[in-house]
Amino acid sequence: MAKHKTPLLDQLESGPWPSFVSDIKQEAEARAKNEKGLDYQIPVDCPDDLLGVLEMSYTDGETHWKHGGIVGVFGYGGGVIGRYCDQPEMFPGVAHFHTVRVAQPNGKWYSTKLLRDLMDIWDLRGSGLTNMHGATGDIVFLGTTTPQLEEIFFELTHNLDIDLGGSGSNLRTPASCMGMSRCEYACYDSQELCYNLTMEFQDELHRPAFPYKFKFKFDACPNGCVAAIARSDLSFIGTWKDGIRINQEAVAAYVGGEIAPNAGAHAGRDWGAFDIQKEVVDLCPSGCISYDGKLTIDNKECVRCMHCINTMPRALKIGEETGCSILCGAKAPILDGPQMGSLLIPFIEVNKDDDFQDIKDVVENVWDWWMEEGKNRERIGETMKRLGLAALINAVGVDVDARHVQEPRHNPYIFWKAEDVDGGWERDINDFRKRHQR
Ligand code: SF4
Repeated sequence: MAKHKTPLLDQLESGPWPSFVSDIKQEAEARAKNEKGLDYQIPVDCPDDLLGVLEMSYTDGETHWKHGGIVGVFGYGGGVIGRYCDQPEMFPGVAHFHTVRVAQPNGKWYSTKLLRDLMDIWDLRGSGLTNMHGATGDIVFLGTTTPQLEEIFFELTHNLDIDLGGSGSNLRTPASCMGMSRCEYACYDSQELCYNLTMEFQDELHRPAFPYKFKFKFDACPNGCVAAIARSDLSFIGTWKDGIRINQEAVAAYVGGEIAPNAGAHAGRDWGAFDIQKEVVDLCPSGCISYDGKLTIDNKECVRCMHCINTMPRALKIGEETGCSILCGAKAPILDGPQMGSLLIPFIEVNKDDDFQDIKDVVENVWDWWMEEGKNRERIGETMKRLGLAALINAVGVDVDARHVQEPRHNPYIFWKAEDVDGGWERDINDFRKRHQR
């Protein structure tokens, strides 16, 4: 029987959607019965008290979690987010309710054994409640007590060979899409790059030394399954230099109805005959496709949106000269509102043979600049906006490129220096003045 009355939370169970309230109640009930016969290491009524404190927050219109302060495991600065309840007498089960971030498997490839092992740890030493996965991508274990932190850390790292994730002003847990392990659109091995940079930057991941948080995300193609462009300070998005490969016979088969569009997605619903003009040509955002019995793409105008390839995957393929673009500065609305990444490096080869050194050089340059220029608790996207993308481009040593222009004739990014221009602006202005005798 529930310990607390929760009329407001109960309403959240009434809609058609699954509710986190039902999940917490289910866990509370399971703990009360303890059918597995576990020797719970945190108060058994933790989920029950969580419901109680949430109900109280809804009633009072304010949170009852205090600022977490510093908790963690020895030698690490990140990975655990401290949380304490401001009503510990009323809700002793959640007096401590720390969150533990755990690095997810690359590309989120789990085995059922790993899932069971993770839950064995968390059932015993935590609330049993998880968030799979947090916005950054990692596994989030919700709610445990301070004495359990070292135990959890030991079991994760020694028994499961899994590390804590990032939290605080450090590199957050890097996240990759499935990439080449499954996807034909992958333009580079996103999982390999993600793993390599994770190992290379272990210090940055575990010891907060940045002005604020910093996220890497790796999308192997512009479809962006981990939404790198919107959710990471530095995004690595697969792309290609040459043209989209076209198989004209397969195009004809789509047009003739022998191949179902969208790889047969929406099967069971009749969308009518495939109309290449309406569904592909007219929807190309840069208007660079035409079809007159033969499909033609003006590749220099293609913006790699993937629409045509997604619609006719058996007829169109990504190019052969593949690599990635690096974008910088995406973030959620913290101070200035949300921001998408800005293009920093239009194309870079993803070269495993040199241990991705070119990419690591870019990362180091970006961090050096931000650690020098960034204010405390300023995301790099905000520093970039405050000082201009040109400052970052200069710091990274990238040549300015037309692709850095966000809006032609309204471009805040490129500033010519007098010495960059033949003879200099100053001389031009003096000549002009002389000519006009001013
Ligand atoms: Fe057009 Fe997008 Fe296809 Fe490029 S990928 S040709 S922009 S629809």
